[in-house]
Amino acid sequence: MPQHPTDPACIFCKIVAGTIPCLKVIEDDRLLAFLDIGPLSCGHTLIVPKGHYATLDQMPDDLAGACAAAAPRLSRAIKAATGASAWNLLQNNGRLSGQAVDHVHFHIIPRREADGLGYRWNPTKLDAEEGRTLLAAIQKAL
Ligand code: AMP
Ligand code: ZN
Repeated sequence: MPQHPTDPACIFCKIVAGTIPCLKVIEDDRLLAFLDIGPLSCGHTLIVPKGHYATLDQMPDDLAGACAAAAPRLSRAIKAATGASAWNLLQNNGRLSGQAVDHVHFHIIPRREADGLGYRWNPTKLDAEEGRTLLAAIQKAL
């Protein structure tokens, strides 16, 4: 069993440890998935790594990969069980993004016709010169 960092004050660490209950969908040595207690839609499920990492950018690649790898199977089961025809994978990092629980989690949010869910998506236009400068800065930081 791999050792994972934990934070005793963290609600998701408490769920991982079993000291707070959850409706668990799957579990293995690296992650668990459980029903969100405040679902945005029927079937809203969270994939949570067993290690305590506040945001995805702080997380080991292989653990993040294990969480992402659980999404296809889980989403197929959630679609089959709920009849949802579509779904969003949402992963918030930091308060400004809407993150409330500082332990990485991936939301699987089933979508249905006229479900009232949505978000602002106001595209701008990428300036070619700015794009090249940005690209160079990102690649330098990799
Ligand atoms: P986020 O805003 O991305 O941090 O999302 C946190 C999510 O965790 C919300 O959708 C909450 O409803 C959910 N949540 C918080 N506490 C619990 C809990 N004890 N069991 C299940 N889901 C929870
Ligand atoms: Zn935690």
